[in-house]
Amino acid sequence: MGKFKQLGLSKPILKVLEELEFTKPTEIQEQAIPLLLEGHSDFIGLAQTGTGKTAAFGLPLLERIDPSNRSTQALVLAPTRELGQQIAEQLETFSKYMEKVNVLAVYGGAAISNQIRALKKPTQVIIATPGRLIDLIKRKAVFLDELEYLVMDEADEMLNMGFKKELDKILSYTPVEKLTWLFSATMPSEIKKIVKKYMEDPVEVKIDVKNKVNTNIEHQFAVLKRSDKLEALCRFIDIYPEMRAVVFCRTKRDTQELAESLLQINYKADAIHGDLSQKQRDRVMGRFKKNDLQLLIATDVAARGIDVNDLTHVFHFTVPDDESYYTHRSGRTARAGKKGISISFINGREGYKIRNFEKKLKINFQQVEIPDADKIASIRIEKWAENILMTNQSERLNAKLVKKVSKLFSSISKEELIENLLSIQLDQLNLGSNKDLNTETEKSDRKEGGRGRGGRSGSNRYGRDRRSKGRSGGSKNHRKGNKKATSDSKKSTKKKKRY
Ligand code: ADP
Ligand code: MG
Repeated sequence: MGKFKQLGLSKPILKVLEELEFTKPTEIQEQAIPLLLEGHSDFIGLAQTGTGKTAAFGLPLLERIDPSNRSTQALVLAPTRELGQQIAEQLETFSKYMEKVNVLAVYGGAAISNQIRALKKPTQVIIATPGRLIDLIKRKAVFLDELEYLVMDEADEMLNMGFKKELDKILSYTPVEKLTWLFSATMPSEIKKIVKKYMEDPVEVKIDVKNKVNTNIEHQFAVLKRSDKLEALCRFIDIYPEMRAVVFCRTKRDTQELAESLLQINYKADAIHGDLSQKQRDRVMGRFKKNDLQLLIATDVAARGIDVNDLTHVFHFTVPDDESYYTHRSGRTARAGKKGISISFINGREGYKIRNFEKKLKINFQQVEIPDADKIASIRIEKWAENILMTNQSERLNAKLVKKVSKLFSSISKEELIENLLSIQLDQLNLGSNKDLNTETEKSDRKEGGRGRGGRSGSNRYGRDRRSKGRSGGSKNHRKGNKKATSDSKKSTKKKKRY
């Protein structure tokens, strides 16, 4: 805590930080906070995701706001609604012990009338997505003439999302004397243009941008056929029951389809992408944060900036081409000093992508095998047995009933009873197919000149070939031991097994 104090933060803030168990500032916080608290110049902060940029600008911003002044003094621009809400929540928390500062997040996809009503109250800090903010300015619900601080968070992503025109417009509405603080993970040329056009001699703080991938992340990849991806994902989940993961797909449709397939086989998963209404997105995020969902299936844009703690894994169901996307995706895990695993699913022809990430991001990947069904069965059965051993419900049961059942079982031995229970349980676990998914190799594919197997011939979209359709198609019950689905899938597995 002493370290935060040295940065010049006030008592009410220090108290909250202590409650939040922020014991020492992150690198960007350590460098940015004193500058922003005292500074009179524009500022650029470059740091990888998960390094605490929100507090780096949020804390000094709150310290500099005058709560007795009713005008809008600070505007924070963020690329997505989720991120805007998250920033607002964090600022609310940080300001808990300060004199009341009104913070409001406004974003597209929610009723504008409610936001207009909320803005009637004096709002010192507005967090906004660019498009909605322009609407609100036009409707005279937001006035920026007394703005003192403009923060652009995830500036690179705002430009990626095509907000260039909106940013130009917003900046034209703000007074020239204001200070501009820009935060970004990367510094593409588009941002340099913005800096040149709108900022004056900014002080730049750059943290470890070269090696921008969080070192607490273990990078792994598995080589497999596109059509086996769903099954492989299920096995990774089964083998790691405490998993909480974000699974990245390339398109909205892919996220939706994958989430549906997982749901059908009884995994707690849901999709988040740009086509959902704000309400739906809030609901999904809320459930994920509450641990109601184990898996969030997301597109790159929807997941940008999402800060969910305690994610154990990030899956790249489809691997991005661009290494900066890889960095952002994998940065969803291993936040706030924790460890995390990032697993890429590649087909035989995508090895070059991994090598490209290794070279450009200076990280190492380890190839992993897809867990086999036998191993998963034994883990699950152990858990099941443990559960039985831990159960102590005798008082709850009706003695007569116990007697009756005991009598029914009296004709078989304990061994037989165990065998029967075990086989029923194994049926219920219903571990998909037991085929070996580790048959695909990079080498084998190269031999084929990059065509064939990994390609579109046998399967269409991931996990959506005939076999897995049979698997999820008819069967909510599949995992519950739907015999027909099982034997179907086994049949076609046999056909496909090993080359
Ligand atoms: P970024 O914007 O750089 O991606 P965030 O501001 O979202 O990162 O912070 C990532 C996570 O780290 C958040 O959960 C935040 O509460 C936590 N965090 C931030 N600063 C600290 C700190 N000094 N000590 C511990 N945790 C922190
Ligand atoms: Mg951030």
